[in-house]
Order: sequence, then C-alpha cells, then structure tokens
Amino acid sequence: MSIWTETIDAEHEGLPCSRCKKNGRLWDRIESVPICPPCTESICIGEAEPIILQARTHCCAVCNTMATVDYRTVPQQQGRERLRLVIPLCGSHLRGLFRRCLSPSIFHRLCGEVAELGVNPDSIFLLHDSFYDAKGRALQPVVEPW
Ligand SMILES: [Zn+2]
Ligand SMILES: [Zn+2]
Repeated sequence: MSIWTETIDAEHEGLPCSRCKKNGRLWDRIESVPICPPCTESICIGEAEPIILQARTHCCAVCNTMATVDYRTVPQQQGRERLRLVIPLCGSHLRGLFRRCLSPSIFHRLCGEVAELGVNPDSIFLLHDSFYDAKGRALQPVVEPW
C-alpha cells in the first residue's frame, strides 16, 4: 500500500500556514510543513518561492519513482476517528496534484488508492469533483502565467 493513514496529533491542530501564517484550520502538509490552499496555488503559478525539501525514498503513490515527499491531507468529511492521509508523491506528481491537472489515468489510480482506505476521494480537496469530471478530465487546471 503506497498511501496510508495516521491519526492527527495534537501538534497538527492549530498550526498556522508556514507561508502566510494564517491560522485556524488543519492545513495540508508537505512533510511536516503546513501550507494553506492559496499559498499552494501561488507556489504553483510561480508567484511564491518554491518548496524545497529533502526527498525521501518512499515509492511515489502513482509511479515507481523512489524520491518522494509525503503529502499529508485531512479528508473534509470524517467520522469520529480523526485521521489524515499520507500520500508519498514524486516531484512531478505533486505538481500535477497541486495544479489540479493529473491525467485521467493517474487521477483514477489515486482515487482508487484513497477509496481502498475507506476514504471518499471527493473529501480530498485537491481530488474534488469540481476539479475533475467523472472521466477524470481536469476541469480547473492551474495555468502558469507565462
Ligand atoms: Zn498560507
Ligand atoms: Zn510519481
């Protein structure tokens, strides 16, 4: 299994975004760095400094690249047990996820892996059905400004 879940530790709660310092939500994390959606988007379009992290040697959830970072996200609808998903992704698939422009086959593969863990892929913000249609076609890709 290339994606796994972990329980949310108390330390994750209430940590501000590492970029804009905005507070009050369970932001996604790249490795242990919390980051809010607007900051993620400005990094994607090149307005903000890129995230530079030491890649680890987990296998990418989509391809078999061994240099990945762990993307952590909290599903939007949850039961009593509060957990977050950990999705190891290589640089190019992390960019594809953030820019909401994964290819249909990769989108379906990622959704399948998430569903196998009992999590509705629609509850993952970046896989939400307003970003992809039922065939996995990207509806709102983030386009680079150049
Ligand atoms: Zn932010
Ligand atoms: Zn990959």
